Amino acid sequence: MITTSYKLALNELLRGGVVAVPTETVYGLAADIRNPHAIASIFKTKDRPEFDPLIVHIADTKDVVAVAREFPPLARKLADAFWPGPLTIVLPRLPQMNPMITSGYDTVAVRIPNQTLTRTLIRDLGGPIAAPSANRFGHTSPTTAQHVESEFSGRVLVLDGGPCGVGIESTVVRVHPKKISILRPGAVTAEDLAKFAAVEPARQNSESPGHLIHHYMPDIPLVVFQNGVTTAAYEFVRMKLGKNVLHPAWMELPSEPVTAARLLYANMRAAAASADVNCLFLDYPIRERRSHLWAGISDRIEKAATLTV
Ligand code: AMP
Ligand code: MG
Repeated sequence: MITTSYKLALNELLRGGVVAVPTETVYGLAADIRNPHAIASIFKTKDRPEFDPLIVHIADTKDVVAVAREFPPLARKLADAFWPGPLTIVLPRLPQMNPMITSGYDTVAVRIPNQTLTRTLIRDLGGPIAAPSANRFGHTSPTTAQHVESEFSGRVLVLDGGPCGVGIESTVVRVHPKKISILRPGAVTAEDLAKFAAVEPARQNSESPGHLIHHYMPDIPLVVFQNGVTTAAYEFVRMKLGKNVLHPAWMELPSEPVTAARLLYANMRAAAASADVNCLFLDYPIRERRSHLWAGISDRIEKAATLTV
């Protein structure tokens, strides 16, 4: 159910429920980190495997100590520069944290969302929330309250805060004494982070649980044409998808990256919902789009794609 009632959302969190909340990145499925039943409901509602840890959202930088046992100087600098905002920092966790939140890892991922409504919710709840993206596991992330409503067929209370401004999930980093590794690219870019320390490029690695090859997937196969759409490429796709006839919906993506990130998932969902289509096509030059905000957008497109030609 979609609501604009802040009070209703707060009461649901206080009584140990899960509530979908707006953030500037995507909508999150929130629960009180102090309540193990509420945390278990997040995994159950999303059908999320237990190996995929949750991001903890706090309202003020001083609350890092509620979840982390260390806050190294470089991490603090990044927090000062980018919080509230789309940067998640992985830190050594407090031993008493519920291990389900961190999937048993010795670290916790934390950020402050740039959404006043949700920060106020965290303050009034009196403690941090865990809030992974409010979608079924592996599926396209929601950037409006209506997306969440359709993900869970109305089973989850959704606090409507309007469409998300950033549109893709936060950048996730791990901080070493003199180096930053990007575990997931996002709107705080490698170029932004390089002003603070040497940056290791985004890569698939064991430090980044839950960062699977396929993720963010729409209901029908997404095909990315990275070298333009030729007859040969089209025929190859038809064979690979094992379809006699292709009925594609073409996905639109603006050429300016801030708008492209904001509309990526909404346009993906809209195209996949067109009548009588059996695949989704996107004309997108992945190789040319590996820097700045494009790095994050390309990462999501690659993982959402069933096929890249
Ligand atoms: P989301 O589903 O958008 O909330 O993203 C959660 C992602 O954050 C996970 O899939 C991980 O890739 C990353 N993450 C969360 N906690 C940790 C952690 N302790 N160490 C490394 N990455 C983490
Ligand atoms: Mg997610």
